[in-house]
Amino acid sequence: MRVPLVDLSAQYQKISQQINEKLIQIMERGDFVLGEELKLFEEEFAKYCGTNYAVGVGSGTDALHLALLACGIKSGDEVVTAANTFAATAAAISMVGATPVLIDINPNNYNLDLNYLEKAITKKTKAVLPVHLYGQPLEMGKLMEIANKYNLLVIEDACQAHGSKYKEKKTGSFGIVGCFSFYPSKNLGAFGDGGMVVTNDEEIAEKIKMLRNHGEKQKYLHEIKGFNSRLDNLQAAILRVKLKYLDEWNKARNQLAQLYSKLLKETSLITPQVEPWAEHVFHLYVVRSQKRDELLNFLKTREIYAGIHYPHPIHLLPAFKDLGYQKGDFPITEKYSQEIISLPIYPELTEEAVRYVVAAVKEFEKSQN
Ligand SMILES: *Cc1c(COP(=O)(O)O)cnc(C)c1O
Repeated sequence: MRVPLVDLSAQYQKISQQINEKLIQIMERGDFVLGEELKLFEEEFAKYCGTNYAVGVGSGTDALHLALLACGIKSGDEVVTAANTFAATAAAISMVGATPVLIDINPNNYNLDLNYLEKAITKKTKAVLPVHLYGQPLEMGKLMEIANKYNLLVIEDACQAHGSKYKEKKTGSFGIVGCFSFYPSKNLGAFGDGGMVVTNDEEIAEKIKMLRNHGEKQKYLHEIKGFNSRLDNLQAAILRVKLKYLDEWNKARNQLAQLYSKLLKETSLITPQVEPWAEHVFHLYVVRSQKRDELLNFLKTREIYAGIHYPHPIHLLPAFKDLGYQKGDFPITEKYSQEIISLPIYPELTEEAVRYVVAAVKEFEKSQN
């Protein structure tokens, strides 16, 4: 049996008819940029997240970048974020000229460790950028309390957490802005790049609308220097179809994760912990192994394709050498980067495939004794 890390074609097959029909209609109408589907998707996604506004942009990275700009984060400012995240989180902070200040991750839930947050705050700190990593929300109650105490803006990176909840509230709806990616493999994925900023702040929504469209409100009246970063109308149409299935798909991911965790109890792997406040959406199912690289290679021989998210902590990447961090600065992040392995998970994955993966893990462990 071949088990890929994600299988995008399996999902397309289920909804291909609905999508194909819509795309043909749009192509026949020639409605490609800032069109009707985008407007409707923005309304639907805002409603889904429980926010007043949603603005579609070109990618998750652009969502973060434009959100930081709209929040007025600039050169000389510091923004606190996690040492274990996708590079785009920290890069977006650098792109506006601000300095990413990293903190280590919580050993249980792999999200930024709130015990270190207050210590990282200086006079220059303007915002905190929590990442709901792997689809599990941070402890937002506590984070908001600290942010409010120090008067910091909260910019959420919810690029892996579409539909996840902290208590009863959706991730992305806590901060001044929430940023989403619709990269094809995300829980809600387009057929190419796409992103979204959600907010309750009308002024910020308007600012992002200008920034994504050359800085204009009125055609050719450029009020600020902007970008070209609009969520494509064809992609919005695809995402509208998919949004109707998102909760069902997230539920399927949860069931598969539960099955993995139950079956993996008979192995030495450390399985993910779902926090009591969290409605996890398992964008990734991440376990830890003392023999990660060997396991990854063994699984390949059984045609099981696992991943690593992420093999290199932000502070040890060549791109972020300028931040001046050193090896040893974030011990949990560094240790875990050698141990974490993401097992295949996607809504269409079968229970049979999960059992096959777990059997392969057991076979690997036996071969090690
Ligand atoms: C995917 C992702 C991004 C970037 O999104 P793109 O759409 O690929 O630009 C940012 N942060 C995190 C945590 C992500 O997983």
